[in-house]
Amino acid sequence: MVALTNVPHTDLTDLTIAEARTLLDRRELSAADLTQAHLDRVSAVDDRIHAYLHVMTETAQAQAAEADRRIGSGDAAWLTGIPLALKDVLVTTDAPTTAGSKILAGYRSPFDAAVVERLRTQGAVFVGKTNTDEFAMGSSTENSAYGPTHNPWGDLDRVPGGSSGGSAAAVAAREAMGALGSDTGGSIRQPAGFCGVVGMKPTYGRVSRYGLIAFASSLDQIGPFTRTVEDAAILLGAIAGHDPRDSTSLPDHVPNYRAALTGDVRGLKLGVPAEYFVEGMDPDVEAAVRAAIAELAHMGAEIVPISLPYTKYGLSTYYIIAPAECSANLARFDGVKYGLSLHAGDLRDSYETTRAQGFGPEVKRRIMLGTYALSSGYYDAYYVKAQQVRTLVKRDFDTAFATVDAIVTATSPTVAFKLGEKVDDPLAMYLNDVLTIPANMAGIPGIALPCGYKGEMPISLQILGPVLGEEIVLRIADAYERATPWRERRPML
Ligand code: GLN
Repeated sequence: MVALTNVPHTDLTDLTIAEARTLLDRRELSAADLTQAHLDRVSAVDDRIHAYLHVMTETAQAQAAEADRRIGSGDAAWLTGIPLALKDVLVTTDAPTTAGSKILAGYRSPFDAAVVERLRTQGAVFVGKTNTDEFAMGSSTENSAYGPTHNPWGDLDRVPGGSSGGSAAAVAAREAMGALGSDTGGSIRQPAGFCGVVGMKPTYGRVSRYGLIAFASSLDQIGPFTRTVEDAAILLGAIAGHDPRDSTSLPDHVPNYRAALTGDVRGLKLGVPAEYFVEGMDPDVEAAVRAAIAELAHMGAEIVPISLPYTKYGLSTYYIIAPAECSANLARFDGVKYGLSLHAGDLRDSYETTRAQGFGPEVKRRIMLGTYALSSGYYDAYYVKAQQVRTLVKRDFDTAFATVDAIVTATSPTVAFKLGEKVDDPLAMYLNDVLTIPANMAGIPGIALPCGYKGEMPISLQILGPVLGEEIVLRIADAYERATPWRERRPML
């Protein structure tokens, strides 16, 4: 027996997670109806967006029915009955996991990622697995072996950002109420920014990476996409926490993030780093970010000019460390253990044929860069040097957070660009992440949220905090969101 639906069916996909929770608990809405509305929305728009690689219709309907039983018996958790999407680098037992790569075509994991387990325990509903650049390497989803995702804003001819572009687009296009992504150098915050939604990279170690297909293990972190900061606090609270299966998982207690949303930023010191207004930044993006900073000052925060001088080395350091770690992590895809398996001559030929045909050009580029940087004779000159510079980037932040509570910048130097515009220019593509990468290098948390529009395309504000400073970051973001009209807009699909 499902509860009555008092909310018009067409509006169900506009609800926030917090709003839906109230309606579900009051039995004014059923999880079955809420889920069906999202599945219907996927059927109506996803041929144009391509946010999903795999839609989990039957799983979702069964989870929704179970959620309705659980709500009926009065022990609902925050996410019971809430339709969510999962980036296809998170392994799941009841759906394929491809990481956007041909080399994992047909792969089915025998276990669930830790975050997937946690969401199942909460009784969440899985709409499907979302598109990603192959092995999360990219900034536009154009590196997916299964075709790109389209940004739901504007004329559908722009990228959603990447690598978690499918998750960002699914949330923006109302094809899920929230989603999980992974962020190694900006892959949650940049696509959240391009798609006008909220995206958060937590502190390194805050969320277990067990069952996340590894790209660069010392940088990867899982985090939420939502349409409000409050929903991000809810989703983060559900996935954060210690996991003994991830040796980098932090043992620290998980606070009630939602309780941190006081709406008040008075007296907080917000650092504005000169180095983050980079050359080549779109003047409209700069103007919107400066206006957001002025708004925060108007709300009572103290704005403090700061300097993070090593920022300028962040990008080049990242493009040594990330490929080095990826070349090691991707060695496991050899045609024997997972997915695609092509037989040719002897075992070595089979490895080479499988990898040659299974990996796309960007993944091969990264493996070659990383193998080179790790090879004997170059290791000290490149990898060790890059790790030393990484320490300097981290020290910049330590120094800054001795005097400020958080740092406010743009998320990306531009709004979403056109599909195809940067595919042939890897360096231009890499420049997208110049403002997001330093946080991964330092392991600190960061959130992206809308702060304006250029024409129809969203502009995004980034707020960075100290290690385990998720509460302060969420509090500032929520206060800003409440004081401004940006979250009211929705893409006209
Ligand atoms: N765009 C960056 C890269 O290509 C970051 C990717 C990510 O965060 N997963 O490596």
